[in-house]
Amino acid sequence: MTQQRLRIAIQKSGRLADECQTLLKGAGLKLNLRDQRLLSHCQNLPIDILRVRDDDIPGLVMDGVVDLGIVGENVLEEERLEREAMNRPCEFTTLRRLDFGGCRLSLAVDKDLAWDGPTTLAGKRIATSYPYLLASYMKKTGVPFSDCMLKGSVEVAPRAGLADAICDLVSTGATLEANGLKETEVIFRSKATLIQTASPLSATNQELVDKLLTRINGVIQARE
Ligand code: ATP
Ligand code: ZN
Repeated sequence: MTQQRLRIAIQKSGRLADECQTLLKGAGLKLNLRDQRLLSHCQNLPIDILRVRDDDIPGLVMDGVVDLGIVGENVLEEERLEREAMNRPCEFTTLRRLDFGGCRLSLAVDKDLAWDGPTTLAGKRIATSYPYLLASYMKKTGVPFSDCMLKGSVEVAPRAGLADAICDLVSTGATLEANGLKETEVIFRSKATLIQTASPLSATNQELVDKLLTRINGVIQARE
């Protein structure tokens, strides 16, 4: 498959979508992303924008299907750990950490539970969408636990009797509070990040990436 235009994957809709588009436009890309197409041509540079679910972005970059991607470090590290465990390609290069999409992956329990560190969770079940990040953290504590995979509605799992605790993304903490939970440990701090595939690009495309990165650095510096 010959591919000349540089391919960048961004989230189609969700918390990172608008900021990604603003950043790319700020870096000088003329984009028309009003329609619902998967692939959109940049009008003034040899770049194609691929709009997908955020969960698909790390894999697309690691498999070299796209050249660049913008994704939350939480999603990126979860995919990397999973692929590492499965002996699948999990390499990529970080071009730069971005200034949006900030959140943390935290453990939370019933607000009335007495919390005495991670040992409080010994033998307990933890609901999460991030089993690899959770396992990697819990391994360091040495506390035995079981987990329960939920791709959504993680915060209602304790009340529904599905789990004793959760490991979920938090930004303000309002969702936790609304569900009678309290945040007890931060296990991963995340921001959106710009990554590049590990396989070498053509000289022309690498020059374009370098130019784009310089412009992105400028955009971020200007709003600091
Ligand atoms: P998609 O439909 O693309 O799969 P999603 O529902 O999985 O979207 P979003 O809720 O849009 O994902 O979140 C995308 C990313 O935004 C998260 O992975 C995380 O990096 C970041 N983020 C920032 N703040 C929060 C928050 N409070 N809750 C969840 N994610 C957040
Ligand atoms: Zn997602």
